[in-house]
Amino acid sequence: MTPDLEKLLDLQDKDLTLLEVDTRLAGVLQEEQQLDEAVEAVEASIGVAQRSVAESIRRRIEVEGRVETYRKLQEGRRKRIEVSRPGKDTVTLMAELELSRQVLAREESDWFRAQEAVQAQEARVAEAEAHVEALKAAQVEPREALAARKSELEAERAEALEARDKCADAVAKPLRSRYERLRGSRAPVAVVALAGDACGACFTAVPMNRRANMRMTGVVDGCEGCGVMLYYPETA
Ligand SMILES: [Zn+2]
Repeated sequence: MTPDLEKLLDLQDKDLTLLEVDTRLAGVLQEEQQLDEAVEAVEASIGVAQRSVAESIRRRIEVEGRVETYRKLQEGRRKRIEVSRPGKDTVTLMAELELSRQVLAREESDWFRAQEAVQAQEARVAEAEAHVEALKAAQVEPREALAARKSELEAERAEALEARDKCADAVAKPLRSRYERLRGSRAPVAVVALAGDACGACFTAVPMNRRANMRMTGVVDGCEGCGVMLYYPETA
């Protein structure tokens, strides 16, 4: 194994370590996001409940307006009855008064229903708000644990990145750019040992003359099947 190859494999090792740290870090971020989403979902339900409260209040005000109008009309009829002399007009007014009394009663029961709806929806808002508070309280501990894990992993990542960059500087430039290009566009493992007479990644057969060349010169060849950088392992 040439020193160049050793350095390249060392770099790949460091990159795989970095990748592993990144994967764990992404897991922590995803867990945090799940906690956020759980809160957002309940907060959205508060919004929905608040909108129905507003709608019910609007309906209640509408009914209130009608009740008020009917009351005034009734008031007017009563006064007219008071000042009128008993006769045909009085009979008509009395009939109107009775009819409107029924209408007013219906409107008033509409008002009670609207008021009940407002109260029920306000209770739902309060319930959803309590739910959010409970959820946030329950999330305090897991969030702290996640934050601790995150800062540990960030420190670990900074270390892994530094180690990786240090290794990268030691790798011969052409080999390194070949490696970086491959790593950027493909699977994370870009440098692979021959497995017998085939590529260790995709198991495409490698011609004997090329294998012999790799063995004798220590050159890093490319796989014709999957494109990885191939080397001849010392134990093969
Ligand atoms: Zn291959």
